[in-house]
This record gives sequence, structure tokens and C-alpha cells, in this order.
Amino acid sequence: MTCPKCENPTVPVTRNGTTTQVCAACDTPDRTCTWCKVPMSKRLVGNGQYLHYICPKCRFQHTAKFS
Ligand SMILES: [Zn+2]
Ligand SMILES: [Zn+2]
Repeated sequence: MTCPKCENPTVPVTRNGTTTQVCAACDTPDRTCTWCKVPMSKRLVGNGQYLHYICPKCRFQHTAKFS
């Protein structure tokens, strides 16, 4: 299944016992690196419950709860 907006592949995420297809690129907030001020790349981890950010320049990593 692909996202209708960006055509990236969606990932299944389980919320409240229901599995939905979520596009990690469109349905997650953007975040810029604290130091480099560049957009961090993001992906869903932990069965879609957490967002993992990583800076492409300095490799700074940040994990946030995604609900
Ligand atoms: Zn998308
Ligand atoms: Zn950085």
C-alpha cells in the first residue's frame, strides 16, 4: 500500500487493537536538528508507537512518542 499524497510505502500501525496504514513521511511531525538546523530524517519504530529521528549531518538521534 502506498501513500496517496507522496506515494511512499505506508507501514501498518496498531492503535487500540486496530491496524491502520500510516505514511511515516506525511503523518508525522517534522523536526530539525538542534545544532545543524536541517530537517531530520524520520521513521516509525516500535510497531508505529515511536518516532525515531536522526540528523543526516551530525547523526544526532531523537525518539518521540507517536500516537
Ligand atoms: Zn505520504
Ligand atoms: Zn545535526
